[in-house]
Amino acid sequence: MPHSSGGGFHGGGFHSGGGFHGSSSSGGGGTRYSNRPFAGANRYYYYRGRRLRYVYADGPYNKDGSGFAIIITILSFLIIFIGLLAPGIKDFNNEKIDSKSDIGIVIEDNANILEDTDELYKVFEDFYDETGIIPALLTVKHSEWKHVKIGNTSGTLSRYAYSAYTKRFKDEYHWLIVYSVDDEGAEGFAWEGMQGNYTDPVLTKGAADAFGRRLHKNFESGEYSVEGSLIEAFEYLTPRILRGFWDFDIIGPALVVVAISVVTVPILVGVMLKNKRFKNAKKWEPWYKEDVCEECGRPVVKGAMSDCPFCGAYVPRI
Ligand SMILES: [Zn+2]
Repeated sequence: MPHSSGGGFHGGGFHSGGGFHGSSSSGGGGTRYSNRPFAGANRYYYYRGRRLRYVYADGPYNKDGSGFAIIITILSFLIIFIGLLAPGIKDFNNEKIDSKSDIGIVIEDNANILEDTDELYKVFEDFYDETGIIPALLTVKHSEWKHVKIGNTSGTLSRYAYSAYTKRFKDEYHWLIVYSVDDEGAEGFAWEGMQGNYTDPVLTKGAADAFGRRLHKNFESGEYSVEGSLIEAFEYLTPRILRGFWDFDIIGPALVVVAISVVTVPILVGVMLKNKRFKNAKKWEPWYKEDVCEECGRPVVKGAMSDCPFCGAYVPRI
């Protein structure tokens, strides 16, 4: 069964994709660290090289364990990223479809709005030669489909395009574009693409979206006729389609994940390095006293150690 390849209408935009609301995860366990004392903080001391350093923390001192959490976080970012990107990559390296249908390119101008279709036939043929997909164009007036009510709901162009497709084409190799205008000649238009199932490997969502955005812009610009808009969009699509298109519905969220990672990973790595540096930090007790070793002159903590960590000399308590 054919299915929509996108569409749009004047006044509204081309509908493409939803948003993605990412949330970043924080690596800290809620403990605040600082190089300066602050309210509620305990003091810790550690050696860095030959110097005695202090760090202040207000919560349980987490010597390690957070490194593991950070690695898990980074790994999940990578997994999410690869998972999101993989289907987008699949879009590439397409091959021409071996369509077994009779080629008879259909341009049906029921709304009587096309002026010159010679060039349009040509770009349709070029597209067929490149892809094996048979493009078709049908123009209609809004009354053709709006009055086809189902219950209280007015008909949709999408439903009309579906039935127009199945009536005309018994295969799944066609790509029908329906362009609809107002009966009274008022401004405004609607369009809908309907693609057969066998066109999917080449006319991917990424390709159909890229084409749809371009076509819709052409229709809206007023610069082109209806056929001119299609010619321009097909001339863009045909040379590119077998190379594949990025699917922005997939790439978009992946880029958000990358952006989040770019911000959070350095922070997490920073926390990890900081934790590593403080790994040997010990709690400072009020009766401790910083002094220098009588033997080697390097810093020692009286009350906390009985031997100098550098030369092993005895360190008196006071
Ligand atoms: Zn010493």
